[in-house]
This record gives sequence, C-alpha cells and structure tokens, in this order.
Amino acid sequence: MNLHIKTAPSAAHPADKPFPRVLIIEDELPMRTALSDCLEAEGYRVLKADNGEDGLNRAIAEMPDLILLDIMLPRLDGFELCAELRRLAQTVPILMLTAKGQIEDRVTGLDAGADDYLVKPFSTRELLARVRALLRRARKQSGIARKLALGGIEIDLVAQTARRGKKPLHLTAKEFAMLKLMAECPGEVISRERFLDVVWGYTAFPTTRTVDNHIASLRAKIEPELELPLWIITVHGVGYRLQF
Ligand code: CA
Repeated sequence: MNLHIKTAPSAAHPADKPFPRVLIIEDELPMRTALSDCLEAEGYRVLKADNGEDGLNRAIAEMPDLILLDIMLPRLDGFELCAELRRLAQTVPILMLTAKGQIEDRVTGLDAGADDYLVKPFSTRELLARVRALLRRARKQSGIARKLALGGIEIDLVAQTARRGKKPLHLTAKEFAMLKLMAECPGEVISRERFLDVVWGYTAFPTTRTVDNHIASLRAKIEPELELPLWIITVHGVGYRLQF
C-alpha cells in the first residue's frame, strides 16, 4: 500500500469547491491516519470517526460532502451505517473500502446504497481519483438545490454560508440542514417528524416543538416580515414547505 506517499496539492482543485469535507469512518488507526494525511495534503477538510455509531452521528450532524466507509467496524458495521443513512434520505456520496477479493462485500455495499467501492490495498492516486469523481457527480446532481436565493439573501447549502447583500448571515448547522431538506423537495410539505428524522437523527429524542422553535429562529433570520412569511410556509397540522 502506498498510502504514505504524499502527492503535491493540485494547482486547480478538481472538485470545484475550495474545501470539500470528507468524513473517514475507519477503526484502524494507521489506515485512518494514512487516509486523512492523503486527503488533507490535497486540500480536503477531514472529519474522522473510529466506530460506526459515531460515524453515523457525525454524518448526520455535520453533513460531509463525501464519506469513506470501512466495512468491518465496531458498534455498527459499514453496511448497516450506509443503509441507515439512505433510509434517512441522506444523499451524501459513500465510497466503501472493502478487503481484497471480497466480491460479496462489494455487492452488499452497493445494495446498501454505497456509490462506489475501493478494494484494499489501493493507491493514493486511485483513492483521490475516485473521491474527485464522486464529488463531481454529486455536484452535478445537486446543482439546483445547492444555492438558494431568497429575496436579497443568498444561501449556499453545501458550503453552509449565507449572506444578505454583502453582510454575512449566521445560520446554525441545524438551520442549514432544515433549509437543505426543504430545498431538496421544492413545494413539498415536510412534516415535523421528517425534520426530526433527517436533521436530528435517530439517536436524539427532541420533540416536534423543537422543530417549530428552529423554524421560528430561521424565519427571524431570513423572513422580511415574521407575520407574513414569504419563504417558509406553515402547512397547518402537517409541517412546513419552502416556497422560492
Ligand atoms: Ca475495520
């Protein structure tokens, strides 16, 4: 394995966003470190988890741009983790790392919702090429839902930045996640339960009131008139939808 060989950062980053965030879920420390070094040398921002449960929680809470997922993991294995993320409608690209020659793993991984797989041991170049390809593909697919223009407010759901004119607007990670969910289903009503499921995840137990409170704080930041919301519309007895 030549994962320890660092390559020079490319002059023009192939994934047209300055710093895509990659979550590495891998329990073996040397492998985790090697993957992380290799990605950081290329300008990626790296998040790490050393077991399946933490990995799932980080994936839900931090919404990375891509996940590198080992299969054999303590607490929750790669297949279960992958299936759980897809059940929660998380579309983050997942690159599975499988042991050599285990064709069954590969098939099971793709069935569970992984986008691609890489057989260990692999080269740095191959890993980076797969990562770039997956990020490119994801970017094309999410082109519409990536940026929102709500009146004078511009929101980048991927970079998690927002501004009103030239002034930065501070939204929390949960607020971005809620906007992203609504933007992905334009015109569709999102129930409070669905917000809880997708934005809060399966290990947290907030109440539907939590959703209303977060919507209220989001509205306070983006709506010109709180009494008469232009963008986040209440659908009584059901939930909310984004109108843009
Ligand atoms: Ca492992």
